[in-house]
Amino acid sequence: MDHFTLKNGTMHAEDVPLSRIADEVGTPVYVYSRATLERHARVFMDALSGLERKHFAFAIKANPNLSVLRVLAKCGFGADVVSGGEIARALASGIAPADVVFSGVGKTREELQRALDDGIGQFNIELEDEGIAISELAVAMGKRAVAVLRVNPDVDAKTHAKISTGKKENKFGVPIDQAGAIYARLAGLPGLDMRGVALHIGSQVFDLDPLEAGYARIGAFVGELRAAGFAIDRVDLGGGLGVPYQRGQVPPEPAEYGQMVARVTKGWDVTLMFEPGRVIVGNAGVLLTKVIWVKPGVINPYVIVDAAMNDLARPALYDAWHDFEAVRPTGARMIANIAGPVCESTDTFAMARDIDAVKPGDLAVFRTAGAYGATMASTYNSRALVPEVMVDGDRYAVVADRVQPEALIAAERLPEWLLD
Ligand SMILES: *Cc1c(COP(=O)(O)O)cnc(C)c1O
Repeated sequence: MDHFTLKNGTMHAEDVPLSRIADEVGTPVYVYSRATLERHARVFMDALSGLERKHFAFAIKANPNLSVLRVLAKCGFGADVVSGGEIARALASGIAPADVVFSGVGKTREELQRALDDGIGQFNIELEDEGIAISELAVAMGKRAVAVLRVNPDVDAKTHAKISTGKKENKFGVPIDQAGAIYARLAGLPGLDMRGVALHIGSQVFDLDPLEAGYARIGAFVGELRAAGFAIDRVDLGGGLGVPYQRGQVPPEPAEYGQMVARVTKGWDVTLMFEPGRVIVGNAGVLLTKVIWVKPGVINPYVIVDAAMNDLARPALYDAWHDFEAVRPTGARMIANIAGPVCESTDTFAMARDIDAVKPGDLAVFRTAGAYGATMASTYNSRALVPEVMVDGDRYAVVADRVQPEALIAAERLPEWLLD
């Protein structure tokens, strides 16, 4: 459920007509609904409320906007971060360092040092050498870093190959058959306080079975670690729950997920940690765009909009579907291709799609753009960096500016030896 609905024929975000935002801020622009963010955060947390000990860390990479993070922090979310930049964002948004989990397969020594300096709550170790490095850095500071080992359970999340992370050939985690030996060696290091294990098998997961299979494998592994004498007090179950991108798609309900987690983890006696990203923010955002031209095509017309693959990369990257709806639908329909202005054929949002009929100057949205949207934006084709707006009831604020090409040019330098 979201708060992007038609009122008097015009799509609103909560109580603000999207046409007003387009007039005042321009297009393209991402629009987030605070009420939707809060609702999704609450539904997710409620679904897991029966668990005794739990920790929620929003996966910042899905949407790192400071205002989005602030809303989620107020709901009780910590942060799952994958870079030094995301640590900076988590802390700038008011999330306590102790509530930050540092994931990622390529943390540099500089980033690890920074995380230790900042007192980050947990390191999710992806390979043995990383654990050794964290231990060395921590010892040099007279600290012990709280850490868990990310295990690759070798399950197929049955999602798009490019967002699948839990198969043995993926780059993430240590193979489950080697994890016991690696864990034992890491637990012996003086700078590490090893507390448990983590997994994350992929994103946009629609089938709970692979998640359940992964969790069950991790549960068995926890049993082996305990039998070997290790005190395990936390298991990080990652994120991955999918959202509907297309009208009619039915993803697993958070409540079903919560029941599955309760069933599989019964008796584990640990703090369960969750790292949801997409399921919290996906439907809380739309990309608002304006139709520039409708170009006759050989088979279907091309609706050329002012948003492009640099603003919303998912269709170009993963062939992702985003529902496209007119802000002022007339009831008429058309079959069209939807494309942006970027000079690449992959800058195409849809082919032969049945959509609201639109004409040049009309406003429309790409729905479910709150996750992996603005965060992946670039300035390719020297386009401005897309701005972001947050709506709260009948008010809104620009929460990230449109960064104009002039500002990017100002960050470039012509060396003296090119000035002649
Ligand atoms: C990306 C990621 C997540 C969030 O994934 P979603 O599918 O957005 O829920 C959680 N944990 C880790 C380690 C990740 O890399």
